[in-house]
Amino acid sequence: MTETHEHEPEIIGENPDGTPVLRCNRCGKPITPETAVLTPTGYRCQDCIRQQQKVFDNTKGLDLLIGFLISGIISFAGSWFVPRFGFFTLLIAPGIGALIFNAVRIAVKRRRSKALNSAILAGALIGSLPMLVPQMLNVITMSSELLSVIGNLTPLIWRVVYTVLVATTAYAQTKGIRL
Ligand SMILES: [Zn+2]
Repeated sequence: MTETHEHEPEIIGENPDGTPVLRCNRCGKPITPETAVLTPTGYRCQDCIRQQQKVFDNTKGLDLLIGFLISGIISFAGSWFVPRFGFFTLLIAPGIGALIFNAVRIAVKRRRSKALNSAILAGALIGSLPMLVPQMLNVITMSSELLSVIGNLTPLIWRVVYTVLVATTAYAQTKGIRL
């Protein structure tokens, strides 16, 4: 009981329209239920949430560019050979995603931010495009011949699987770090 009590909002009054006014448990500012954010330690105002986020966002200088480039280069390198293994793409692609995450993490000296996570995601996606797009065009332009469509469809599917798996694995790992 005492544990749930901690998370109950401190109601300090009522607005003219009847909605309760809460108090931010960090700075004490009055907040409305719409703007209040529930954190593990209680209700907080948006300003406090933003400030907390900044503390954890410590990337600097070229970190975002470095993250994007490393992610893009590894994703591109993997896209040369991984989809050729067909079914094994399912096993190898997540490894490439993990490799991207760890390589970037070392390169930026473990600094982190939401923007860096997005840069890693963008790099992983864009890096796989030079191999994916021509394969896609192959299937589209040969649509008149059914056999060549089928022949080109399987490699295309593995390329798409590669792109999705690498990007989602790399991104999921960035999310594994508490922001
Ligand atoms: Zn506050």
